[in-house]
Amino acid sequence: MGVDIKTLQNWLSSYDYESITIGVVASHSSLQILHGARQEGFRTLGIAVGENRRKYYSAFPGADPDEWLMLDNYDEMLDYADWFRERNVIIIPHGSLVEYLGSSNFKNLEVPTFGNRGILHWESSRERQRKWLAMGGCSMPKVIDDPHDIDGPVIVKYAGAKGGEGYFIARDYRDFKRNVNIEEEFTIQEYVLGCRYYLHFFFDPIAEDGYQVEGIGKNSGKKLGRLELMSMDRRDESNVDEFYKLGSLRDLREMSLEPSFVVTGNQPVVIRESLLPRAFEMAEGTVAASFELEENSRGMIGSFCLETIVTDKLEFRVFEISARIVAGSNPFVGGSPYSDINEPFMSTGRRISRSIKKAISNNCLDSILS
Ligand code: ATP
Repeated sequence: MGVDIKTLQNWLSSYDYESITIGVVASHSSLQILHGARQEGFRTLGIAVGENRRKYYSAFPGADPDEWLMLDNYDEMLDYADWFRERNVIIIPHGSLVEYLGSSNFKNLEVPTFGNRGILHWESSRERQRKWLAMGGCSMPKVIDDPHDIDGPVIVKYAGAKGGEGYFIARDYRDFKRNVNIEEEFTIQEYVLGCRYYLHFFFDPIAEDGYQVEGIGKNSGKKLGRLELMSMDRRDESNVDEFYKLGSLRDLREMSLEPSFVVTGNQPVVIRESLLPRAFEMAEGTVAASFELEENSRGMIGSFCLETIVTDKLEFRVFEISARIVAGSNPFVGGSPYSDINEPFMSTGRRISRSIKKAISNNCLDSILS
């Protein structure tokens, strides 16, 4: 179980709203989050294990935290809950925090965090993600239940894999059998041929203007909040991105080489403008569906990313959703071709702090934290 709203309100009742500190684990998108928090006038806290983690921040004075909490391991964060709350800390979760702490520790961290921790349950399993995205009207790559049915290129994903590590491509059943580790849990997905776009959105449930998300199901007829497109990236993936330079997949297999999908960096991109209406439609559907996932779901709050492939028929396939800030937003510390239209220099990290600032002044901080 995560944090219920009463507990959150109880924590916040002892917070001094004049001295909120934005806390973040020093990794992933922390430079952007710390920089953005400072731009919005917040005090900042870095949380790290190991002095070498901390040292490199001195190379970025614009993001170097006002205070550090140095730990022997990330699990210790749980023991520091009172310490965090005494300092009016709001933690901004990102992919590394969830990975370092583990999802159940993260859910039990007794400190206010930005966004809805409850959504993690839906994000953390491929099957639940599919249910959610399908409810939101997104098309996804086909899933092949029986490996004997493989009749075209597929990508095999292991359950615990992170950042695409350990995935492999198979062209047919023989290929699959040769490469698969049956000891591990895996999913076989149709390999979608096309260009990848990672769409970074922000959902602000307390804004009443702009592109409003229309509710579905029990929220039909309601306007749920404002959807914003912050930026887009494409990941650099090693070694698949450079694989072709050595020849065909067959040539490479003769050299006993297999493509891998390990994320090493991110590049800024924009999409054909005529694809934007569909991108918004998918994101709107996904947000609307997030409120219907379970009884009393608080839905999506803040940043999320739809990871997509656009085919040569100009159709999107969504292969994953991340329900928090993604590292793909890091190229946009100074804004993006989308966010600049609305307000220059608005990174996703800064947008999070802006949202906290607005909630403080509207006295509704509990509606964007969990
Ligand atoms: P993360 O959690 O870091 O987002 P992950 O380990 O869950 O990553 P995915 O994002 O599912 O992995 O996929 C990793 C990479 O594999 C993608 O960035 C993309 O290049 C490729 N990929 C995933 N699914 C497909 C697909 N159905 N068709 C083609 N390529 C795919």
